[in-house]
Amino acid sequence: MHHKRISMVKDKRIALVAHDNKKRDLLEWAKYNRTLLDCHELYATGTTGETLIRELGLVINRLQSGPLGGDQQIGSKIVSNEIDFLIFFWDPLEPQPHDTDVKALLRMAVVWNIPIACNRATADFMISSPLMDGEYFRLVPDYDEYHSRRSVKNSGLVTSSFRADF
Ligand code: PGA
Repeated sequence: MHHKRISMVKDKRIALVAHDNKKRDLLEWAKYNRTLLDCHELYATGTTGETLIRELGLVINRLQSGPLGGDQQIGSKIVSNEIDFLIFFWDPLEPQPHDTDVKALLRMAVVWNIPIACNRATADFMISSPLMDGEYFRLVPDYDEYHSRRSVKNSGLVTSSFRADF
């Protein structure tokens, strides 16, 4: 499969999400990295965003709370190339009412090859990477081949003609 190059400019669009038992971790991480985060455009699910705004005064585009659709909003923004980078401290020790949304969000991040940090150590390595300081081209499989696949539906052959914008 061929790949397309999608530009991530210097000022990244970063999504921040933390499950309830991980909000303290994310808050401490964001506090430590506050100056760096200020250089980027930030998005967050509802309660995570509210906590970061209240405690750190960060400027954040707040979306819906995760269990009410916030994870899906972030996933949708990844698909439409409006998010470059995901910090997602999910809780491995507690089932979530929106487990399916969590899985879907992680899946979209992989499909579109955006960097994801699911714990503090990875987030530390990512935020301090020299790649943060300039434009970066992420490689995404050229899904045109997938769009033009032929599939059998209701015993007839169907050709999808969908094309993405990028
Ligand atoms: P919240 O959502 O920031 O509204 O708590 C996070 C999540 O559970 O996805």
